[in-house]
Parts: sequence; structure tokens; C-alpha cells
Amino acid sequence: MPGFRSEEPQSEGAGPGAGGRVLVTGATGLLGRSLCRQLRDDGWSVIATGFSRASPRMHRCDLTSEEQVHHLIHTHKPEVIVHCAAERRPDVVERSSDSALNLNVHATAVLAKEAASCGSFLLYISTDYVFDGRNPPYGEDDAPNPLNLYGRSKMEGEREATRHCPDSVILRVPVLFGEVERVSESAVTALWTSILDSTQTCSVDHVQQRFPTEVRDVARVCSQICSRRRQDPSLRGVLHFSGTEQMTKYEMTRAVAEAFKLPSDHIVAATDPAPGSASRPQNARLDCSRLQLLGLSVQPRPFRAAILDCLWPFTPDRRWRQTVFH
Ligand code: NAP
Repeated sequence: MPGFRSEEPQSEGAGPGAGGRVLVTGATGLLGRSLCRQLRDDGWSVIATGFSRASPRMHRCDLTSEEQVHHLIHTHKPEVIVHCAAERRPDVVERSSDSALNLNVHATAVLAKEAASCGSFLLYISTDYVFDGRNPPYGEDDAPNPLNLYGRSKMEGEREATRHCPDSVILRVPVLFGEVERVSESAVTALWTSILDSTQTCSVDHVQQRFPTEVRDVARVCSQICSRRRQDPSLRGVLHFSGTEQMTKYEMTRAVAEAFKLPSDHIVAATDPAPGSASRPQNARLDCSRLQLLGLSVQPRPFRAAILDCLWPFTPDRRWRQTVFH
């Protein structure tokens, strides 16, 4: 079938997953890469699927093709599907709304229908951008009111997931960072570029409050949800997980510079939104009580320690790397 490879996925080990089959969409993405590693470590047999970046050891599937999704799900009949794939850049969603809605909403509906027909448990990854950010913190049952098309598409994705798989879990998370292939891959690591060029004054937003969250922590939470669901089939509904350190992008940039002992006097706090960008919530802090009450949360690593791990491969000064890390 065009666009679909059927190589066997990497195999499982012992652990809470005990060889159960979990299919991860968006396995080539920021969260998906980390999640696949965590699930394998926890003993799951992982069926990693990607699209344009799918390696030969993965399954390539265009989720916007109903035929390919049907074939993928019915070939593997996974016990669990973790749906990470999405267009998650708000400005791209505004610019390319048809293709973004096709992936974020329509493909989610198709995947959820196929999941239901195979009896697979669906874990749908969503975002704090479903909230308007005017009245934080947001509980799991608070009404979404997205400010931009990305948030709306994810909210509609949540609805499609629940409509076709009423027993699914929706996990909402805020802005993510982690091991990146290039710094622009995450809104947090992208701040690195403004730090490095200290010859130029750079304005960075100091209004919108964010809770940078490391993908390794999210991956541990997802893996725990998958394992718990095996023991307790009544686990369903909306859950929130978030890093605990509240920072504007300006504060994140200063913190990153400080962690790497780099100058940051050229970073200026901006109080006006970037011109032409999609509206974003002012403070969509997530109340994560339900996850905590279920004993499924993890203690997030401190931001400064986590960001050092992610960005050190991009340090221009090799001597610095040797001094600090070797
Ligand atoms: P990402 O790095 O941008 O990765 C997107 C993934 O979607 C890639 O694996 C990509 O595959 C896949 N994809 C794109 N088009 C596809 C298609 N037509 N068919 C199949 N796969 C396709 O995303 P992420 O940052 O890991 O985000 C994971 C989830 O977390 C998303 O649902 C997002 O909404 C949510 N989230 C992210 C953030 C954040 O700050 N990143 C914050 C809150 C919530 P290829 O690259 O191989 O084409």
C-alpha cells in the first residue's frame, strides 16, 4: 500500500507494559520520540509511526488518509494508541488552516473510529490552549474557550476522540521542551537563538505566563496512564499535567542564559504581543489535581537542570562542554 511500510517494530522487554502493543502516532516528533523510549523501557511493544521523518524502522502513515489509518490499525490491533501527531504551531495552523484541521480534527476522528472498532484504548494528547487564559487555574471540567484556531482544533480533536471512544483519556499539557533535533523544534529551546547573538538587542514576551514542561516527564505520565488503564478499565476522561515553574518567555530566556552562564543583558522584556501572530492565552495554568489524586503524576525536574540537558549539544564553545560535562 502506498505510503505505508510494514517492517516489524522494535520489540518489548519486561515491565509494567509486559509486552502489550502500544501504537504511537507522531513518534518522530518532540513528545513522540521521548514517549517511545519511555514505553519501551517500561516493557511495551511499541509500534512507532511517523510521516515525513519516519525512519526505516518505523511505520510510515499519513494520518490524513483514511485508507492508511484503517490499514495501520487493523494490521496491528494495538491494545493502546497514544495520539501525539498534530500541527501544534498556532501561526502555521492559522496560515494553513485546511491541512491543519484535516490533521488535528478529521484524522483524530478517523483514528478514534478505528480504535473503537479494534477495542483499543485511546490516549489523546491535548493542550492548555483549549482555555482562554483569563481565569486560571483551569480544572479538568472547566469549559474550554480557545482563543486561536490551534486551540479550537485541539478542542475539536478532544471531542472527536471522546465521541468515538467514550472511554478514552485526554491528557492536556502546556508548552513542551526536551531533546530537540534543532532548537526551533520547541518554543522553549527556540529562545536559545536570541541568547547566542548578544550583539543584537532582542525583545522577548514578558506578559504571557507559561509552565514549560519537559517531554520526559510527560512521557512518564503517559506510560503510567497506559499501565494503570490495564489494571483499571474505568480510567477515562480529562487529565492535566504541567511543569510547576511559572515563567514568561523573557524569564525563561534569562533562566537559560543563567544556566549556561551566558550574558543576557541584550534580552529585553516585551509587553506588546508580536505583530501578526495568533492570539494566545495570558495564563492557562492547569490544575493537575485529578492526575495527582490518581497517583499518576510525576515530580517535574527543575527547569534549569532540564534545559541544560536539552541545549548543551547546541553550545558553540566546545571547551565549555568539556569543562562542565566531561
Ligand atoms: P511535533 O514535534 O510538531 O510533531 C508532530 C508530529 O506529527 C510529527 O511526528 C509528524 O510526523 C506528525 N505528523 C504531521 N503530519 C502528519 C500526517 N499527515 N500524518 C501522520 N503524522 C503526521 O509535535 P509535539 O510537539 O511532539 O506535540 C505532540 C502533541 O502534544 C501534539 O498533539 C500537540 O498538540 C501537543 N502539545 C504540544 C505542545 C508543544 O509545546 N510542543 C504543547 C501542548 C500540547 P513527521 O515529522 O514524521 O512528518
